[in-house]
Amino acid sequence: MEQKRVINFCAGPAKLPQTVLLQAQKEMLSHNDLGFSVLEMSHRSSDFVKILNKTESLLRELLNIPANYKVMFLQGGGSGQFSAVPLNLIGLKEDKCADYLVTGTWSAKAAKEAEKYGKVNIVHPKLDSYTKIPDPGSWTLNPSASYVYYCANETVHGVEYNFTPETNGAVLVSDMSSNFLSRPVDVSKFGLIFAGAQKNVGCAGVTVVIVREDLIGHTLKECPIVLDYKVQAENNSLYNTPPCFSIYIMGLVLEWIKNNGGSAAMETLNKQKSSIIYDIINASKGFFDCPVDVSCRSRMNIPFRVGKKGGDEALEKDFLDGASKRGMISLKGHRSVGGIRASLYNAVTLEDTEALGAYMKEFLKEHQ
Ligand SMILES: *Cc1c(COP(=O)(O)O)cnc(C)c1O
Repeated sequence: MEQKRVINFCAGPAKLPQTVLLQAQKEMLSHNDLGFSVLEMSHRSSDFVKILNKTESLLRELLNIPANYKVMFLQGGGSGQFSAVPLNLIGLKEDKCADYLVTGTWSAKAAKEAEKYGKVNIVHPKLDSYTKIPDPGSWTLNPSASYVYYCANETVHGVEYNFTPETNGAVLVSDMSSNFLSRPVDVSKFGLIFAGAQKNVGCAGVTVVIVREDLIGHTLKECPIVLDYKVQAENNSLYNTPPCFSIYIMGLVLEWIKNNGGSAAMETLNKQKSSIIYDIINASKGFFDCPVDVSCRSRMNIPFRVGKKGGDEALEKDFLDGASKRGMISLKGHRSVGGIRASLYNAVTLEDTEALGAYMKEFLKEHQ
C-alpha cells in the first residue's frame, strides 16, 4: 500500500532514508528469519552482538577509524556527552581545566556543564551573536588544558566549521551530532568525537563515541558508571542494556551511506543541496536573510528570516503555512532564533531540496 510521505526538513529527530524504514518494516516481525524482532532480542545474544559488531565495522570503514580508537554506542544523547566528556577527560592533566570554543547553543551548554567538573576557559572573546567562528588568530589556548572542545556544526544557529581547529598537539574533542558523516573527517586529528544518531545517522536513543585509547582511564571518581568510557569500552558497550533497536537502525543507515558512495559522496550531495538554498537567499536582495557569515554557513542547517533583515513574522507564518500546504514540514526555526530553518541532512534528497527552492522562488516573486 502506497503511504503518503511529506518532505521533512526537521532538525532532529530527522528524516531517515526510505530504504532504511522499509527494511526495518520488513524485519519487524522476524529479523533474519529468526521468528522474532530486534526489539525482542537479548542484548547478550549472539544475534544482537552480530548487529552491534556489524554497525561498528561499518562505522570504522566509513570513517577510516584507526585501530587505536574505541567506538562506543551509549545512551544519554549528545547532552549526556556534555557531562561524560569532562567526567572522563578533564582529569587528563593535573589542573583539571579545559578549553572551549563557544559558537552556538550547543557548545555553550557543553561549556556550562563542564564547569561542574573543572575549570573552563573560553578561548576567544565572547560573541554577542552566534553568526561566525572567531578568527583562530584571536584564540588563546591554555597549554595546561586537558582538552580543546568545539561543536563542528551548531544545529540551532547554522554555524559550521569548514576546518579542523589547530591545537598545538592538545587533545581535540568535537561534538559532531548534526554533521556526522555528512563529509569526510580525519579521525586521527581528534582525541574524541561524539554524535547523537538522531540528526544524521539514525534515530534517537544512541550516541556514538569514538575515543583514542590512551585517553581512557582518567575518569573522575564521581562519574556515573554508565558514562565511564573505560567500563563501556571494556564491555563493548554492553555494560548494561544498550539502545538495541537504535543501534540496529544506525547499522541500516550506515549501510545506506556505504551503498551511496560513503562520506565523500554525501559531501558532494550536501554541497549541492545547500548551494541551492544559499544561492536563492543570496540572490533575494535581503528578502531571505541568513545572518551567518558566509565563511561558516552550515550545509546541514540553514536558518533564515523572511521579508526583511530580522524577519517579518506575519510573512514567516505565511511562508510556513504555504510550505505545509505543499507537504513540506518542520521548517520553523528554533524558538530561540525564530524565522525559518531548513535542515538538509544526508537523507534529505536533492529533489526534496529542489522542491523547497522552487517554493522559495515562488514566494519571493509573490511578495517582493
Ligand atoms: C541535538 C544536538 C545535541 C543534543 O542532543 P540530545 O540527544 O538531545 O542530547 C547536542 N549537540 C548538537 C550539535 C546537536 O545538534
